[in-house]
Amino acid sequence: MTRSEQLFERALRVIPGGVNSPVRAFRSVGGTPFFVTSADGAMLYTADGRQLIDFVCTWGPAILGHNHPAIKAAIATALENGTSFGTPNPYEVEIAELIVRFVPSIRKVRLCNSGTEATMSAIRLARGFTRRDKIIKFAGCYHGHSDSLLIKAGSGALTHGYPDSAGVPAAFARETIILPFNDPAAVAAAFAANPDQIAGIILEPYPANVGLILPEPGFLASLRTQCTAHGTLLIFDEVMTGFRLARGGVQELEGITPDLTTLGKIIGGGLPVGAFGGRADIMDCLAPLGPVYQAGTLSGNPLAMAAGIAALKLLEESNPYPRLNRLGREVQDALLAAARKKGLPLQVPQVGSMFAVFFTATPVRDYTTALTSDAALFGRFFHGCLDRGVYLPPSAYETAFLSTAHEGTAVARACQIMTDAIAAL
Ligand SMILES: *Cc1c(COP(=O)(O)O)cnc(C)c1O
Repeated sequence: MTRSEQLFERALRVIPGGVNSPVRAFRSVGGTPFFVTSADGAMLYTADGRQLIDFVCTWGPAILGHNHPAIKAAIATALENGTSFGTPNPYEVEIAELIVRFVPSIRKVRLCNSGTEATMSAIRLARGFTRRDKIIKFAGCYHGHSDSLLIKAGSGALTHGYPDSAGVPAAFARETIILPFNDPAAVAAAFAANPDQIAGIILEPYPANVGLILPEPGFLASLRTQCTAHGTLLIFDEVMTGFRLARGGVQELEGITPDLTTLGKIIGGGLPVGAFGGRADIMDCLAPLGPVYQAGTLSGNPLAMAAGIAALKLLEESNPYPRLNRLGREVQDALLAAARKKGLPLQVPQVGSMFAVFFTATPVRDYTTALTSDAALFGRFFHGCLDRGVYLPPSAYETAFLSTAHEGTAVARACQIMTDAIAAL
């Protein structure tokens, strides 16, 4: 038995499924997860002495690679002064100023501890502000695991076949209207059927938890127009895309101004963090100024803030986005060329440092078309890559990520390995 197998056996006895987040289990690709003891740059080092090129990047946050010296140094400095104060600390002001400067629609921001907290709080705020109960979400978009949002969700909820979780009261689910992505007419119909009842529309502007889906021209603009016309708040969940595709997220790329935005992942520099922000008049409805309650013992934690500030400053100074996009193209080209040679239908949507691998002839534009991907074939491709030294997300419905540390040899080697894995299918 390998050391990872031994650890997993122990984990199974004391942790449900052996993992603290379902996406880490290998249930959809088969086999058991490996344990990682350290990570550096583009590489993971496993408990079994293996070295893997990492295309998961801790599910998004590690855009600058693992174990970045400047982020590590920032955490070490903060650590010298204590880990939590339960009072305001200067780091909170600094990161809030950075977020407000970089993200076009955010005038005020509140920090919390995870993306789930951010989206849950943004939904409560939208309901409190508009005094309406219903929200619209899109099938396949994942917004964390709070009750209102865990309906037809992507990510682990989809991979493991529970898009509608047990434990979500039907009465809550009724307040969430699920629509297909890229279908502005469906949104118009929902507004017509629920006049003056819809508090907000929440979406991943580039859905990245059902593989990767890109909005068709005009879709995001149509949401903005319809929300404005109906007094409904437009909420961009940029937990994944914020600071990954541009400092200002998809809203900067697409020139669309949401009312509220949620952030997480990259803004914590690898430590647990979330944030939500937007129009000042809406944000001022939060306690202690307004009637919408939201709180957190460890919110604005100095270590997490220090790591996040370091990451955001590095992204500002180095502007890696054009380089990351070239890297993403390189991977997309290699995968498509390998599939053509093999005569396999393959879709590889890519934007910046994000890409997904769908084994289907159908262009993927929403949840239904994403599900046409051959998950069993993906499982074989996944293990073919893993055996050869490349770690992809262990699910046919997740996005893969690149970091600045992948530039040069790591990406070239990974392209060769993925090409070989496709040839061997
Ligand atoms: C990861 C993610 C979340 C949830 O964030 P957690 O920190 O895992 O709670 C929410 N929305 C999107 C778009 C995400 O990618």
